Amino acid sequence: MRHALHVLAAALLCACQSWRPVESFDGWTLYAHEDVQADPKPWGDAYEPAHEVVESLFGPFERGVRVHVLQEDAPTPLGDSAVQMVPGIGAARVRAWHTRGDGLFTPPSGVYAGTPDAGTAAHELVHARLAEIDPHLPLWFEEGLACVVGDGILHQGKWIVDGYSCWPVHELRNERLDDDELRKLLRVRAERDTDARDNVLVHFIGWAIVFDLFRMEGGLRYHEWRARYKDGIELREARERLNRSISPDIEAAWLQRLQHADPRVRLAASKGVWKLQSRDALEALVDRLELEQDPEVKASLAVNALSAAGETRSGRDLARRMWRQVSPALRTLELSDPAETKALRDLYRSFRWNADISTRQALEGLKRFWSE
Ligand SMILES: [Zn+2]
Repeated sequence: MRHALHVLAAALLCACQSWRPVESFDGWTLYAHEDVQADPKPWGDAYEPAHEVVESLFGPFERGVRVHVLQEDAPTPLGDSAVQMVPGIGAARVRAWHTRGDGLFTPPSGVYAGTPDAGTAAHELVHARLAEIDPHLPLWFEEGLACVVGDGILHQGKWIVDGYSCWPVHELRNERLDDDELRKLLRVRAERDTDARDNVLVHFIGWAIVFDLFRMEGGLRYHEWRARYKDGIELREARERLNRSISPDIEAAWLQRLQHADPRVRLAASKGVWKLQSRDALEALVDRLELEQDPEVKASLAVNALSAAGETRSGRDLARRMWRQVSPALRTLELSDPAETKALRDLYRSFRWNADISTRQALEGLKRFWSE
């Protein structure tokens, strides 16, 4: 499974291509190239809830937002290919970006995205809103806010924010940034270009610092934090917050949310947990699977447990317990979206010896549960 990368782009795309409006929504408009067929329905399903959440946290947009549908394999701000090899981190797919360009020779400002995904939408719309109210923030702060708000799950037309993002946790644990590198990354400003590796790392450290604030101060307090951090953050404070966010204690505390009374919280907490590559996380998923009654939450737990087992050395007992829960879940769960129900059955079939479908193909239809 590839990781999704969102970059904040300076205006690098050619402005000469023409965009036509596909459909207007409340507060934003969908655009595509003349020769591209874009179905507005899935874009509306992803961007409407994201737009609502971003306005509730950062205030209403002053202007309509443009959302541009990218063609597959369109050049990205980090290079010609959508998949970038990031040194020390691996393959990352540049999934979307936001650009502020408003000049005559720059592409229109707005969001550029290849697929309609609600998490990507929430992330990019944070950039779009911050471009209106605060275009000169430290990049870690802006990316951190976007990453926290962009982590969650779509549930019955609402974007449920979770905030604990498993990819940066895993990578920052392995990365062990020294003080010089951390200091350098903290100094990057939103308006400056960065290379792929720095860009990814700024997302990670930004997430870790803002997630710590989000957790410690019980919510997203943009205006207070902006007053504190608009000119930067002390290295010591950044290090302290970062270390806390990637610590095993916080992992354990956040996995407790799998037991939360509200199924939406459990659902959002389970999504992406496989990325931690941690045995504790796999065990927490299996423990919850044994109790879970909500079909949607159960599906998410099963998909993440299965993926986690592929990434983690779990031992035979845990693997057996996992499969005892996952197998019937894939075979029998009925979800409200028939396409997801079918993907569960396909996933089950993909494990049979004469499978006519690959596990990877089947997982595509269950992206809502595993892809951060
Ligand atoms: Zn971003």
